[in-house]
Amino acid sequence: MLIREFHPVGQGAFYTEKHKYGKDGNFTIVYDCGSTTKGNALKEAINSTFECNNIIDVLFISHFHEDHINGVKRLSKKCEIKNVVLPLLDESEKIWAIAKILCEAESEKEEEKERDALIQLIIKPKDFFNEGTKITVVNPSGDNNQNSINLQDPEDPEIPEKIQSGTKLSIKKQDLIWCFIPINYKNEERKNILKEKTQDININNVIEDIKSGNQTTINKIKEVYKNIDKETKKDLNTTSMLLFSGIDKNEIILSQQNLKSCSHSNAGCLYTGDANLCEELIEELKRILKNFFPYIGTLQVPHHGSTRSYNRDIPILLEEIRYAVISYGTKNKYKHPSCDVICDLIKHRLIPFCVTEDKNTKVTQEIK
Ligand SMILES: [Zn+2]
Repeated sequence: MLIREFHPVGQGAFYTEKHKYGKDGNFTIVYDCGSTTKGNALKEAINSTFECNNIIDVLFISHFHEDHINGVKRLSKKCEIKNVVLPLLDESEKIWAIAKILCEAESEKEEEKERDALIQLIIKPKDFFNEGTKITVVNPSGDNNQNSINLQDPEDPEIPEKIQSGTKLSIKKQDLIWCFIPINYKNEERKNILKEKTQDININNVIEDIKSGNQTTINKIKEVYKNIDKETKKDLNTTSMLLFSGIDKNEIILSQQNLKSCSHSNAGCLYTGDANLCEELIEELKRILKNFFPYIGTLQVPHHGSTRSYNRDIPILLEEIRYAVISYGTKNKYKHPSCDVICDLIKHRLIPFCVTEDKNTKVTQEIK
């Protein structure tokens, strides 16, 4: 059985899957945990989903914007997180992520502490989490041979420190194999612009400089954010690691039970974070996920329903897709979600679910 939940946290993202199988098999994943909506929505969602010391087998982080990560500290204090899988960032991308946090931070003392913790998560994720948590980074350059890692291998249960985009992370659930495939796509052109703009900042001193209030470093980093043109900024802000979570049809173990598993063959979900589903990314998805497209029944609509990140080819490519989940805060300043996106989803007979900070908007999928 699988319980998948899209939690009502407002402008942010917090999605969980609890897989149960066999006599006492359990496997829990989380994709993002953050919200910038004022109030207690995120805290309440974490508390109602997990009890103290619950195990989270894998936490996937799509990208390092506050609205996707500012609940991770609370989550790691409450639960035992075994593995964290996050996109690999080079130095200039780390500086970019920090620059955004610094430019948008409010200057209250309490929030400064939180801000420093997020910066630590970006620069040194190992120090951010508890000692037992293993960190894996996903390299954007995936090759064509899809690697596969069995997450329940008794001889080697650990995920390596670095994996390629498109690597299959699998668990065996009775008569079927369920897999999680992170996809980290990056645009080389944008990367080069960023490298040029950040070349005189030394990442090694950034944490200490910010903590000690070194204004020269802080201003230098802020300048990077201010000096990049609007279009490039929008592109850089919509780089996000996607995740496919669904059955691996190729490896279904033949048995009488198969009829049952076929009935929920489109139980898969494509999580997109804030990714911009541009043509290049669609090509990448075709390359890596084509065989899995028929098993995707649910789409997390990218970037809180922003029209810029959406792609009209998605409902056509994913033929079995039925549900589209859009997370946003009702008072967000970006006017998310876009009416055009919702209309396009409906036009293709998808059912859109708007998940806001209102508790009644939580979406729960129970797949037997
Ligand atoms: Zn976001």
